[in-house]
Amino acid sequence: MTTPRKNFIGINVSGTKVRAALVDDQGRIIERVESEISSENIVPQLATIAGDLRPALGTVVALGVALPGLVNRQTDRVVDPRGMPAPMVENLHAELTRATGLRVEIENDANAAAYGEFKVGAGRGSRNLFYMMIGDGIGGAIILDGKLWTGASGFAGEVGHITIDTEGLECVCGNTGCLETVASATNIVRRARERLYRDNTSSLSRLALNKNFTADDLAHEAREGDDFAAMMIERTGRYIGTGVANVINLLNIDCIVLGGGVMDAGSLILNPIIQEAKRRAFQPCFDATQIVAATLGTDAAVIGAALLARDAEQN
Ligand SMILES: [Zn+2]
Repeated sequence: MTTPRKNFIGINVSGTKVRAALVDDQGRIIERVESEISSENIVPQLATIAGDLRPALGTVVALGVALPGLVNRQTDRVVDPRGMPAPMVENLHAELTRATGLRVEIENDANAAAYGEFKVGAGRGSRNLFYMMIGDGIGGAIILDGKLWTGASGFAGEVGHITIDTEGLECVCGNTGCLETVASATNIVRRARERLYRDNTSSLSRLALNKNFTADDLAHEAREGDDFAAMMIERTGRYIGTGVANVINLLNIDCIVLGGGVMDAGSLILNPIIQEAKRRAFQPCFDATQIVAATLGTDAAVIGAALLARDAEQN
């Protein structure tokens, strides 16, 4: 007789958007659902989504939820719901446990994505990993000796707020010149737009024809051979590489995984990141580090949440 197959559910809540998946014990997605939820009474909605993900074989053992807020894993409370109404997530753990009858784990989304990449994605096989998510904001997470290291108050890995330019722009965090003020998707667009107005030669860029271009458009034009777009991506890569060099020097880490929408520019951004990190990092630290693009895409947090639920009992 074979032991019944164990499955896990991973859910990633981001605003009113939910991605969920049934994941097997190897981290493979068996079935996935995407849906919109209203911001009121989130628990019954998530419980319904989880209830619909029933495996053909075996059972569902536990449920993991990744969300943008800061989570205290000891108390299972959402400490800082960042952008989500507090009543929506306050008692999420207790209520979701009651509503589903499953063991529930809740984790910050960047931490969950890092864990997914660490276990079954680009960081597989490494022991210590730094994960960087470069999108509308820049987040990060640290895994040391196979476990998430969240710091004294849960905020470890906030790489978006390391200072890159002491004379730089004011950041949402109150500091000036944070990495996020130059390299997040919104700030790449801001820099490109400012330069398009300033610099005549750049008006040859196809981006000048599109007043409302996004970071995705910029990456697309760069891949299509637009020199101006490629230059903006390359410079962005150098800023990120500077941040990466700081991480390498601080942690002497074996693997750095870079994910998020900005990395969709592929080698156009990855190569300058690696070059700049090499130029700035302490050589013996740099030589021990692999810098790679994430491989799980938008599934990273869903898979990571499911695997955190799988591994929580062992940890
Ligand atoms: Zn900041």
